[in-house]
Amino acid sequence: MTIGVLALQGGFIEHQLMLKTLGVDTFEIRQYKDLDKPMDGLILPGGESTVIYKLLIDFNMVDKLKQLIVSNLPVFGTCAGLLLLAKVVHGYQTAYLQTMAITAKKNAYGRQTGSFKTKGIFNQKDAVDFVFIRAPYIEDVGKNVDVLATVDGKIVAARQGFQLVTAFHPELTHDLTIHKYFVAMCMERKNNPSLK
Ligand code: GLN
Repeated sequence: MTIGVLALQGGFIEHQLMLKTLGVDTFEIRQYKDLDKPMDGLILPGGESTVIYKLLIDFNMVDKLKQLIVSNLPVFGTCAGLLLLAKVVHGYQTAYLQTMAITAKKNAYGRQTGSFKTKGIFNQKDAVDFVFIRAPYIEDVGKNVDVLATVDGKIVAARQGFQLVTAFHPELTHDLTIHKYFVAMCMERKNNPSLK
């Protein structure tokens, strides 16, 4: 199992460490040709969505990345990664990759003081630590989207097909629950190669 981690900006190393702990091979995606490497899944890390998207444009990676995601390459977006996948970003005329039917609110908890840690339930069963750093939340989801976690009534984790997003940062905790969930998604996809 090999998972590529977008490494243009932000917290990609922490994701790689989590995957390594789970025995998964990873590589860093830094330029267009890295997107051609064989991978069973892809992580879009936290960071600054505007900066990451600008670099994706500069390196001509947007179309190829979108094409991989719409062909059901499993993708896990954390925080800025969630914003990158959202079809709509509240208050912005156009969003970024727009592959997932969610409306996200950027810096929804405020810019600086809005960083906090709490415990929540993921996927109706696992109690995990949620670390929020200038996080977005999800204001609205399309009908094919499953809500996987909420905090104070706000949606903070969701899945649509092979796209998984969290507003928080599991890679900044010692809890492997959510990375395990994503690796299982990648395995499910790998075992169903006929899925278009
Ligand atoms: N506020 C950041 C953004 O707009 C996201 C913060 C994060 O990824 N920790 O992209």
